[in-house]
Amino acid sequence: MIVTEDLGTVQREAWAAGVLPPVEEVRPGLWSIPVPMPKNPLRYVLSYALALALDDGLALIDLGMDTEESWDALVAGVASTGHHITDVRYAAITHLHPDHFGLAPRLKETTGAVIAMHAADAAALGHFTPEDVAADKEAWRVDLTGLGAPPEVVEAARFELVRFPRGESADVVLAHGDRLDLPGWNIEAVWTPGHTPGHLAFVDRDRDLLFSGDHILPRISPNISSGPGELGDPLHRYLLSLHATTALPDCEVLPAHEYRFRGVTERARQLMDHHEVRLDEIRDAVASRPESTAWEITTRVTWSRPIDVMDPRLQRLAVRETQAHLLVLADRGDIRSDGGTPARWTLSAPTHTKEN
Ligand SMILES: [Zn+2]
Ligand SMILES: [Zn+2]
Repeated sequence: MIVTEDLGTVQREAWAAGVLPPVEEVRPGLWSIPVPMPKNPLRYVLSYALALALDDGLALIDLGMDTEESWDALVAGVASTGHHITDVRYAAITHLHPDHFGLAPRLKETTGAVIAMHAADAAALGHFTPEDVAADKEAWRVDLTGLGAPPEVVEAARFELVRFPRGESADVVLAHGDRLDLPGWNIEAVWTPGHTPGHLAFVDRDRDLLFSGDHILPRISPNISSGPGELGDPLHRYLLSLHATTALPDCEVLPAHEYRFRGVTERARQLMDHHEVRLDEIRDAVASRPESTAWEITTRVTWSRPIDVMDPRLQRLAVRETQAHLLVLADRGDIRSDGGTPARWTLSAPTHTKEN
């Protein structure tokens, strides 16, 4: 993997130094704008601003969290490109997470911009009444209890609601292969489910660019986790999406976090390998103590910091990530669940090899 020369290096150095990178003109008429994420170790999301032909305004790819600080940074970033925030007439959202979608309602209200996203993520926007929220919360409680999570982790379910205030949906629903309606640009939506059910990347073959959202990041592996309203088998889908990504042209990658780079095929393979190592570790954890719950297995595998010092919200992400791996191992016939509440996992009986 090569960090893109010149400006990509500036982004990586800013990353390493723990500061916000500058707004950069990545190509003529295309800028990356770092939008801070308060109190989050990822520090910023990269919003991309695209000048439309015929002075038809500006489009954005991803926006930032719904905070005052993020909004001000986005407005200032757009201003430094020589435009005004009210010039934005289109926003393509890679996925529904609050760091990408969060400012969409405010942007739409301020500028009238069209909000475009994949149907599978747009579907979750409909759940906005108090009854919907209560039902979602109950579904999470049942799900986490089924993973054997302790009560403090079950109750840590905190909802960061990413919704339009009146339950509106996306204005444009994008499907795999759709071209974005942006004068002067030839950008195609690439459905990359896994991190979320409706995650989209955007490829610009004319300018040799891949806007990768959170699907592919240069340094970290995006969270892939199971849960209500998520993909049934998210890691399986993510691995398929990574595999499909290796067939894309070897573009410069413009990710939503960290820094831009080249070598998408190599990075996709690294991420696939990472999950294979993780699958092996989780299979071993099942083998070492049969009839374990997803939570028990979570406490026996390695994490970036010890599980018992993690905040319950991170513990909840960890157990859901473990579950995503258990589902793939079950698909592959390596392990099986007793189907109970909580479900307990055991290695499948070894298949008998014919004796010589
Ligand atoms: Zn995300
Ligand atoms: Zn993100």
